[in-house]
Amino acid sequence: MLQTGGDELEAVKSYFDTTGFERWNKIYGETDEVNKVQLDIRQGHAQTVDKVLRWLDEEGGVVGTTICDAGCGTGSLSIPLALKGATVSASDISSSMAGEAQRRYDATVAAGATPPKVAPKFETMDLESCSGRYHTVCCLDVMIHYPTDKMEGMVQHLASLADERLIISFAPNTLAYAILKRIGELFPGPSKATRAYLHKEDDVEAALAKAGFKVTKREMTATSFYFSRLLSAQRV
Ligand code: SAM
Repeated sequence: MLQTGGDELEAVKSYFDTTGFERWNKIYGETDEVNKVQLDIRQGHAQTVDKVLRWLDEEGGVVGTTICDAGCGTGSLSIPLALKGATVSASDISSSMAGEAQRRYDATVAAGATPPKVAPKFETMDLESCSGRYHTVCCLDVMIHYPTDKMEGMVQHLASLADERLIISFAPNTLAYAILKRIGELFPGPSKATRAYLHKEDDVEAALAKAGFKVTKREMTATSFYFSRLLSAQRV
């Protein structure tokens, strides 16, 4: 099976277990301890999550469906899906991220949210190790850690887990975003601890088609510092 590649996979895991966890836990949280850039990313990411939840609602909701959230982060998508009645299997390469997702779910229920029939399961696991079959597989903003030549394998693996639907988001490789990324690389900061890969939408769509999936919905979320192309694909 294709991997992001030994050292790079380790670097991503180590980043999201340590400094990356601190940074992204804040971004995906609600506290005021964020700078302007982080706040912008928080708002952009929230839009992506809202779009996914809206699509799923429009397509009949998720009650009783099985969902795999691969690279779940702090549970921004997994937790609302579980509360809406899906059976959620969520995992992340970082134990800090998966642990925080569990903590947030427990805190949400402790704060008064009605617990779902089936509690979400949060595990520490890299995406390549995810197994089983699910009605829907979601993978939001993880592909940025996958080099172009590994993207197809990653999409195929996720597709092999999905009976019906695969929802995936990625930073699109357009001229404008490639230039922005280059500018960002010229001014590296502490947040740029892992390499970032943009992907051409045509390439992602071709990988989905090869895996037997047809894109049925697409959205773009762009704020000042957050760019994410979101695709929903159905098994044909
Ligand atoms: N999907 C979540 C969301 O949208 O809220 C988190 C997105 S965050 C930008 C990227 C996440 O991908 C991190 O939590 C990171 O640990 C995880 N990740 C990166 N590479 C991974 C891999 N190979 N397998 C599993 N998780 C991975």
